[in-house]
Amino acid sequence: MSAVVVEDARREFDGRVVLDGVDLTIAPGEFVALLGASGSGKSTLLRALAGLDRGATGDFGVPDKRAVVFQEHRLMPWSRVWRNVTLGLDGTGLRKRAIDALTEVGLEARADAWPRTLSGGESQRVALARALVRTPDLLLLDEPFGALDALTRLKAQGLVARLWAEHRPAVLLVTHDVEEALLLADRALLLRDGRIAEEFIVDVPRPRLIDHPRLLTLRREL
Ligand code: ADP
Ligand code: MG
Repeated sequence: MSAVVVEDARREFDGRVVLDGVDLTIAPGEFVALLGASGSGKSTLLRALAGLDRGATGDFGVPDKRAVVFQEHRLMPWSRVWRNVTLGLDGTGLRKRAIDALTEVGLEARADAWPRTLSGGESQRVALARALVRTPDLLLLDEPFGALDALTRLKAQGLVARLWAEHRPAVLLVTHDVEEALLLADRALLLRDGRIAEEFIVDVPRPRLIDHPRLLTLRREL
């Protein structure tokens, strides 16, 4: 059983080949980093996996329950934070579900705030809560920390590590930050010339970001 099986993913823009036959498998609960230079097609592949790109071809075996976090948070400015978290969902108890997810990212106190009153780091945590509330089997992260300052990025990386350890979705993290890939992922892939050109298992000792005492202190400060 795999969470993701992609075979021969292809995408061209105006005759220019961006994805040139990508094969990709992700096991349930596995954390995979996708590295590549700017413009190498990482976001294109992620959008295809998310089902957001009708122009991509190939076999996309992906779970129905998947959630995406982009570099920019994409919160709706006219909806309060908790409504952003449950946007597009229906059913009862949505506010409770939103607050549970916001609690997981340490933002339950901001449930009724407007998005514009949040910092960049807080906005990304709301975007994470919006993903979490969908209990995804596949979490797609497109450079989610790219716009954050260094300390906020460290905190957000720790949060993602903790949430992943607790919920164990399969994760595809797009990043051009090799250190981030080594820190968070089980396996790293390199996209080059439209294909997965290299792949390696991350088996070096890593700082235990999740348990780092300083990080725990910082999290209380958020
Ligand atoms: P990465 O995320 O690795 O930086 P992208 O997947 O965003 O790269 O883009 C890969 C290439 O495809 C780039 O050259 C980009 O300009 C091109 N591209 C992406 N989306 C479109 C689009 N909608 N229309 C035309 N070209 C696009
Ligand atoms: Mg990109």
